[in-house]
Amino acid sequence: MSRHALGKVIIALVALLVLGVGGSELYAHRHYKEPVVLGPGVTRVERLSKYHPPLKGTANDSLVYVLEGEEDGGAVLVLGGTHPGEVAGILAAIVMVENAVPIKGDIYVIPHISRSGSTGTQPSGGYPLYYHIPTEFGARKFRMGDRVTNPLDQWPDPDVYIHYPTGQSLSYVEIRNINRCWPGRPDGTLTEQTCYAAMQLVREHNVNIVIDLHEAELLYPVTNCIVAPSKSATIAVMTQINLSGDFDIHTEPSPVGYRGLSHREIGDHSDAYPFLLEAPEPFLDQPTGPKTEALLLEGVDEFLLAAGKRGLLFVDYDETGKSIELRVGRHLTTTLAILDEWNFNFPEAEIIFECPGYYEMLENGVGAYLRNPDAVDPSRVVYD
Ligand SMILES: [Zn+2]
Repeated sequence: MSRHALGKVIIALVALLVLGVGGSELYAHRHYKEPVVLGPGVTRVERLSKYHPPLKGTANDSLVYVLEGEEDGGAVLVLGGTHPGEVAGILAAIVMVENAVPIKGDIYVIPHISRSGSTGTQPSGGYPLYYHIPTEFGARKFRMGDRVTNPLDQWPDPDVYIHYPTGQSLSYVEIRNINRCWPGRPDGTLTEQTCYAAMQLVREHNVNIVIDLHEAELLYPVTNCIVAPSKSATIAVMTQINLSGDFDIHTEPSPVGYRGLSHREIGDHSDAYPFLLEAPEPFLDQPTGPKTEALLLEGVDEFLLAAGKRGLLFVDYDETGKSIELRVGRHLTTTLAILDEWNFNFPEAEIIFECPGYYEMLENGVGAYLRNPDAVDPSRVVYD
């Protein structure tokens, strides 16, 4: 073998080594399953494929946790992880699964509606692969996800994404965005089929309220808010007023002409009242320091502080940051406040449950409300 050929072989071997080491970490992340403890309120666990069988065996055959109250009432569906990098929504959903006690009516919780998206992070964006919530029994480990369906599960993208059924043209990447694919279609892409399955759940169980939990940048005006279409607007505004002594929150109207969004299509294609909640997540902003786990969970960033001093942010921001406790807590308390307002307006379909909220999270931390999977009956632990 010539020296020239030997050099090529060595370069190829080094490239394979780099690919193998880097790829093995991504492979482990994609296949890591988060333990979830079934709390006292969980009466059964389903999968989305129950509502649309072609999802069976796919990355988006997400777990659906069902908490049924002793008394008949209405039903609420809580969606976490529409955008898997918006982790407060996922954690709020898991805190509900592990702690909520339904008294009247039924609660359906899907912490990873975009489970596929949660299996692919953004290494090129410097994202961590995991995040850890400290607890008394050690850290609970969660997958850090990407915004959209993993291209390993849905690829290639078209040049232009045509929304079904309106025909509106959207950017190509939105074809893998759960929150541009509502109401979905049974023979569409994986992302569209996932939305279709959730719509079937809503229709089959006459779900009254759908709450879609998100987070947004501080440089983006749609944060610290409830997004609601006109049918949900009265409840959203009354919720905002009722929470005004607790934290900043306002209501944003769901645009009629912008299609595919949960707060638009779920309400238009079912009897349910949709609400989308946004909490402020500094990690998502572009002009920050390194995208570390600390930034994700504590939300303190010197560049955003500088931007805040120049009045460039849409939320109050100081050295205390935007902690995961604050963000999870506001999602939980806003959910409970929406239900209070719903119950006031629709006493014939009341939904009442107990769950820790904003002040409990600030006082004790999120980890205080995550149960130890090794200390409970194994039949009460699932892997998601
Ligand atoms: Zn989002």
